[in-house]
Amino acid sequence: MTTTKINWTTEKIEALVRPNLLSLKAYSSARAEFKGRADVLLDANESPWPTGRNRYPDPSSTELRLALGKLKNFNPDQIVFGNGSDELVDQITRIFCKENDAVHALPPTFGMYKVAAGIAGAEFRDTNLTPEFTIPVDELKATWDDRSKILWLCSPNNPSGNAMDPAVLEDLIHTFPGIVVLDEAYIDFVPELSFLGRLDEFPNLIITQTLSKGWGMAGIRCGAAFASPFIIRMLNTIKMPYNINVLTTGVALDALGKKEEMQAKVDTLISERKRLEAELAKLDCVDYIFPSVTNFLLVRFKDSSTVYQNLLDNAIVVRNQAYQPNAENCLRITAGLAEENDRLLAALKAL
Ligand SMILES: *Cc1c(COP(=O)(O)O)cnc(C)c1O
Repeated sequence: MTTTKINWTTEKIEALVRPNLLSLKAYSSARAEFKGRADVLLDANESPWPTGRNRYPDPSSTELRLALGKLKNFNPDQIVFGNGSDELVDQITRIFCKENDAVHALPPTFGMYKVAAGIAGAEFRDTNLTPEFTIPVDELKATWDDRSKILWLCSPNNPSGNAMDPAVLEDLIHTFPGIVVLDEAYIDFVPELSFLGRLDEFPNLIITQTLSKGWGMAGIRCGAAFASPFIIRMLNTIKMPYNINVLTTGVALDALGKKEEMQAKVDTLISERKRLEAELAKLDCVDYIFPSVTNFLLVRFKDSSTVYQNLLDNAIVVRNQAYQPNAENCLRITAGLAEENDRLLAALKAL
């Protein structure tokens, strides 16, 4: 079992990258090919009428990186955006995995890690979380070998809702023989648990976050990856040049400027989650509610399929997780508006 801390150098990280990408030249966009003053733009076959959307977006999302960097107190040169963090999951997988390389993850967890591994032709090795949804460290480490390229860690985890022990995360980042990606999609609900402030300690770590959950903007598709300058360079090499469009950029910049609005909504959702938890605990149909630090609850029912169907009959949709390991009879319930949560509770009471 691996207990030795790996001493990462840039050369060792480079050796994890798919070899053909190391020499790949990124697409050069019209705007990147000149320096100096630009009064008349006749270089990109755009439409000339200034509608606020007639120009191509900045391929490196400079303004947005500066805004997020300032907000997170993080070097903007070590940030890259994705069309949702979904896109980053795919890009990260394709940077490091060729066919027969291995990707590790800990189900029940976010489904995109497996899909991305499948697209890249990589082997997906899963080690189930324990029944309490903690990481079985020894069992996980026993699955690592020289084909291991990526380990996905999701904390707080979807769909279980718990955060992983930071000491365990740190140990795994130190000992995994490849790239560790820490998915912090729900970090806005527990910002004190973020590893972002410590990223420089871990050359093999990529952290992803998103504007889809706490920030309330799943519709604009904007996620961010934070990593070492070398990994950021690789992400910039393979990304489509205009993946973050002008409309998304404008909305994101506006929202990032109003952090208090986000914080107020996050606080409301946390108190609604707590209320849901307290009320659900009183119901006969509920068997167990897993502790959550997010905007959702994983709830084990005595008979989840009956509950699921009954909720649907009431036009209330929750997410079935019963097929996932250690999540038998479990449904994942997102905290909504107070009146929506009331409707859910009323429907469950009437069961
Ligand atoms: C929702 C979610 C994401 C977010 O994906 P986006 O593509 O940014 O909307 C990423 N990871 C996890 C674990 C999630 O639950």
